[in-house]
Amino acid sequence: MKAEWKKQFNRFNKRMTPCRQAIIDIFEEKRKHLSAEEVYILLRKKRRKVGMATVYRNLDLLSQMGLLHRLNFGDGKEHYEMARISPAKHHHHLVCTRCGKAVDYSELVGEEHEFLNRLEKKLGDKYDFSIQSHQIYFYGLCKDCR
Ligand SMILES: [Zn+2]
Ligand SMILES: [Zn+2]
Ligand SMILES: [Zn+2]
Repeated sequence: MKAEWKKQFNRFNKRMTPCRQAIIDIFEEKRKHLSAEEVYILLRKKRRKVGMATVYRNLDLLSQMGLLHRLNFGDGKEHYEMARISPAKHHHHLVCTRCGKAVDYSELVGEEHEFLNRLEKKLGDKYDFSIQSHQIYFYGLCKDCR
């Protein structure tokens, strides 16, 4: 397991359980967005006997710890992906509102961040808020759904 993940567990004073380890492995192997149901199915394939509630609880915890990002693709399901500290590249999402397909993009991310850093600083100062991350979604229809 990556040193950063371990550090985060220490910082939050949480134990690395076999279930949490298996979930982290799944995200490192797949390197893509996964819904809670997909994580559950993949855990089953690894012969992990866990209930859906445990999966939800652990995904929630890993999100709170900043290891996973919870994504909103507007389909009523919870989606997750590895957060910034992972090798996953910083990116945002185009989401199809009909089929729920999500496309990662990182075009103009450098310029976006120049602006967002300024905005984060301003918002942080004005509202006395420590901003840790941000998410951007563009919603629309993909080629197949149009
Ligand atoms: Zn960004
Ligand atoms: Zn679509
Ligand atoms: Zn993504």
